[in-house]
Amino acid sequence: MQIRTWGDPVLRQPAAPIENIDDTLLKLVDDMLQTMYDAPGVGLAAQQVGVLQQVFVYDIGEGPGVLFNPEIVETSGEWIYEEGCLSVPGLFFPITRAEEVHIRGLDLDGNPVSFEGHELLGRVFLHETDHLHGQLLLDRLDKATHKQAMRALRERAMAQNS
Ligand code: ZN
Repeated sequence: MQIRTWGDPVLRQPAAPIENIDDTLLKLVDDMLQTMYDAPGVGLAAQQVGVLQQVFVYDIGEGPGVLFNPEIVETSGEWIYEEGCLSVPGLFFPITRAEEVHIRGLDLDGNPVSFEGHELLGRVFLHETDHLHGQLLLDRLDKATHKQAMRALRERAMAQNS
């Protein structure tokens, strides 16, 4: 699947909750995992492949995971990490987010599950859940860094269009 990048309006739209886990959805999960591994990346939300449904896949090196209708339940602590995004390729920013993240959602069978993510896994949970709400890591930057990032992205877009 093609990964949508900054400027694509789909990245700014909120995803709808999933009501039926059917074969179409399971095929989407397979395709998303394949796309994430090919990229390569540690997480991928449905928006990033142009689908407005609340699902993300992830793998921080501990095996593939998928979560439907994810909801952040609780966070604690602070952790700074040089964060990137497959939809904002080539740019990394030190972003402070929670160190411990408690998330819940539904698994592939539609059963309620919940996970505790520490550091990188927690970061992935927060980053991908943001995507499903139409948010990007750019929204987490301070004003000055945001300005620099916008300039870099616009210059790149102009170079690609000329
Ligand atoms: Zn991302």
